[in-house]
Amino acid sequence: MQLKISSLSKTYPNGVQALKNVSLTISNGLFGLLGPNGAGKSSLMRTIATLQEAGSGSIFLDDLNVLEKKEDVRKILGYLPQEFGVYTNVSAEELLTHIAILKGISDSRQRSELVKSLLVQTNLYDARKKKLGGYSGGMKQRFGIAQALIGNPKIIIVDEPTAGLDPTERNRFLNLLSEISEQVIVILSTHIVEDVKELCSQMAIINKGEVLFAGHPMEAIKMVQGKIYTAFASKTEAKEIAAQYKVVSQKFNTGKIELHVWSDEKLNHTFTETETGLEDVYFSVINGLVKNSSEFSVYNS
Ligand code: ADP
Repeated sequence: MQLKISSLSKTYPNGVQALKNVSLTISNGLFGLLGPNGAGKSSLMRTIATLQEAGSGSIFLDDLNVLEKKEDVRKILGYLPQEFGVYTNVSAEELLTHIAILKGISDSRQRSELVKSLLVQTNLYDARKKKLGGYSGGMKQRFGIAQALIGNPKIIIVDEPTAGLDPTERNRFLNLLSEISEQVIVILSTHIVEDVKELCSQMAIINKGEVLFAGHPMEAIKMVQGKIYTAFASKTEAKEIAAQYKVVSQKFNTGKIELHVWSDEKLNHTFTETETGLEDVYFSVINGLVKNSSEFSVYNS
C-alpha cells in the first residue's frame, strides 16, 4: 500500500494556513511526522483520517481517492486522536467488545477471539477486567491502539500518542507501533525527536504547515554529519557565540550552557566536533539553517 499526498493545502476560516502545499509519499512501515506544536501535524492527520476537508490538493491510498471516498477510507482506517477520551467505568474487555459490535463483527465467538488477541497484543490481557478509569496513561494509549486495530485497518494514524508517557511506557508503546507497522502504514505524529529516531523507517519534518524534509532518519543524520560543533559556555560566552555562529540549539547541561552550532568549516579550541543526532537535524531544519538547501532531499512527488 502507498499513501500519496499531493500539494495539500488548508486554510481555516480564521485565516490560519495550517498546511502549505504538502506532498509526501508513505509506504508500509512506521512513518514519523515530526514538528513543533502548531506545525500542522493534527491538521494533516485529521485530513487523512477523513475528519476534515482539505482546501486543495489530493490524497490517494493506492487507487482510492481519500478526499472523495470517505466511507471507503473509514473501513480500512484506524485512528487514535490526540485527545483520546475513554469511558472510565467500563473494562477494556467490555469496551473493545462494544466497539467490535459497532464495527459490525456480529459473530460472538469471532468477536471474543479478536478481543482476546488484541488484549494480548497490546499487553493488556491481565488488566482486561480493570475499569479504564484506573488505567495509567500508557495503558490508555495501548488501549487506544487496540481499538484502532479492530477491523484490520490498512492504515493507522496516531496523533501525538507519547506526550505524557514515562520512558518505559513510551518504549513499550513505540515497540507496539513498530510491530504493527510490519504489515500496514502507521503514521505517528510527534514533537519528540526520540520517538522517530530508532523505529521509524521513514520520516518528515514539518513546520508552519510546510514539509521541510522527508526521507530516512539515517539519511537525515548523514546530511548534517561533520557540520555540528559543540561548546560548553557560561551565559556571557553563550551570547558571544550566538552572535558569531549559527546556533542550532542550546540547553542547560551540568551548570553550563551546551550549544550546538552549524559550521561548514572546521572549528577548534572552544568547540568539539559532535556526533550528529537527529535532534541536530531537527533543530537545523526548524531554525531555518538548512531550509531549501540542496543538501536536503525534499520529496516533490
Ligand atoms: P500541530 O498538530 O502540529 O500542533 P495543528 O494542525 O493542530 O498543529 O495546528 C496548525 C495551526 O492551525 C495552528 O496555528 C493552529 O492554531 C491552527 N488550527 C488548528 N485547528 C484549527 C481550527 N479548527 N480552526 C482554526 N485554526 C486551527
